[in-house]
Amino acid sequence: MQQAAIKNIVIVGGGTAGWMTATALSTILRGQYNIRLVESDEIGIVGVGEATIPMIQRFNQVAGIDEAEFMKATQGSYKLGIEFVNWGRVGDRYIHGFGVLGQDLWTVRFDQYWQRLRGLGKARELDEYSITRMAARHNKFMPPRRDLANSPLSDIAYAYHFDASLYARYLRTVSEQRGVRRTEGKIAQVSQRADDGYVDAVVMESGERIEGDLFIDCSGFRALLIEGALKTGYEDWNHWLPCDRALAVPCESVSPLTPYTRATAHRAGWQWRIPLQHRTGNGHVYSSAFMEDEEAQRILLANLDGKPLAEPRMVKFRTGMRKLGWNKNVVAMGLASGFLEPLESTSIHLIQSSIARLVQFFPDRGFNQLEVDEYNRQSRFEYERIRDFVILHYKLNQRDDSDFWKQCAAMPVPDSLQHKLDLFRARGRVVRFDNELFAEAGWLQVMHGQNLKPEGYDPLVDLLPVEEAEKYLESIRDVIGQCVQHMPDHAEYIAQHCAAT
Ligand code: FAD
Repeated sequence: MQQAAIKNIVIVGGGTAGWMTATALSTILRGQYNIRLVESDEIGIVGVGEATIPMIQRFNQVAGIDEAEFMKATQGSYKLGIEFVNWGRVGDRYIHGFGVLGQDLWTVRFDQYWQRLRGLGKARELDEYSITRMAARHNKFMPPRRDLANSPLSDIAYAYHFDASLYARYLRTVSEQRGVRRTEGKIAQVSQRADDGYVDAVVMESGERIEGDLFIDCSGFRALLIEGALKTGYEDWNHWLPCDRALAVPCESVSPLTPYTRATAHRAGWQWRIPLQHRTGNGHVYSSAFMEDEEAQRILLANLDGKPLAEPRMVKFRTGMRKLGWNKNVVAMGLASGFLEPLESTSIHLIQSSIARLVQFFPDRGFNQLEVDEYNRQSRFEYERIRDFVILHYKLNQRDDSDFWKQCAAMPVPDSLQHKLDLFRARGRVVRFDNELFAEAGWLQVMHGQNLKPEGYDPLVDLLPVEEAEKYLESIRDVIGQCVQHMPDHAEYIAQHCAAT
């Protein structure tokens, strides 16, 4: 245990992770600490994180970020969910919409009635019972109307798409206004104390020595401090998630401006499509063991909405997590802490939750190993649960058109995921482990969307006569249909409230 009080915080890296951390800490710590951020223009940022999940609204609230201003600054659009194309079988399509599904009745979940009636041919597609899925299908958007209690309009969960480079730039302005000092240049060396190996400074190529008590490693895949200096180790999950490369390219946008991300499965991976105001972001995530780079690029370019606006850029990655996110006086955030492919847009959320956790266990008087261990335990739990959710998409495929998909369908999965699959298969039940990120509605939408058929259903469903269950489902569907009709068009909403100038 080390007891010196913390005064100087050094953030290494100025990508999304670095500037989110700088923004949050400069806001929450209210100027009581010296915060410096070091970044290298020559190295640059990865700049491809463009889709988020609804929890980012909480980050914006805590950081005091105005939504309209932030949307304008980042060419943002709204996101109600993700459309998955070709994941179960080629030709399949479903949306994982944010927020709730239907409306539960007493102690029985909505989807249990839906499943029962679907079996009898008396229920429609799941889309029709979810406000976010229906709005996405019709390219509609509006924020929730909290004043309309009991209406689905009061409960519209949403997130954002934005230009990652503009986001980092925007957060830099916010952070610098709140006292964060930025140093541009390349770090040449990391200096550690001889007695305990704690990092005491980073040394710039210019020779400048930047000393600190707490270091936040946001140096991206380089992981300069957490791995380069501290040799923390990395847990590789490639055997479950075999994609290891992405080719990214922006292209011209088309109308309509869709309020959802699209993930289209290809022969050995999948392609994202993220609509922004000024362009559409695209990328092909694939497994180099199953596909050559040239073919991956050909597929990517053949599946764009419009003319490419740049040359495709390759990013290589290893899926997995750092064995410790917090080691000695270094806390890793963002890509330095691990990587999960962006299938469910979770990386920016992982940065946000690492910041929240660091604040919760903030080492104002030095480092308490008990708290460091708890931070690491919670981080692992969060990472592993998201990992399971991403694996689920691969495991639940019925494609026989490539060895890649056949291998994914046959692979053994982590016990924690197998447990969820077994429970669902028996009676369509889904459990949420503690406060894991994705709630039951998320798991259910992927399981149903990828054709996993439960053998039974909750016996309590039969306590409601079929005709009444039908009426109950029909009333939900009817109300959602009417609400969506009254929602504005997504592009019109943006034009009125947050168009970039
Ligand atoms: P980077 O952006 O790489 O920043 C690293 C920083 O460290 C840079 O400022 C660099 O200059 C600095 N640095 C490194 N070495 C040195 C040095 N020696 N001296 C000085 N400075 C140094 N996330 C989502 O939530 N949604 C998505 O849709 C999504 N899509 C993605 C698609 C792909 C293909 C990839 C790879 C990631 C995606 N992510 C997504 C993840 C997201 O991009 C990252 O989590 C996020 O951008 C954070 O990156 P970072 O800040 O950790 O690293």
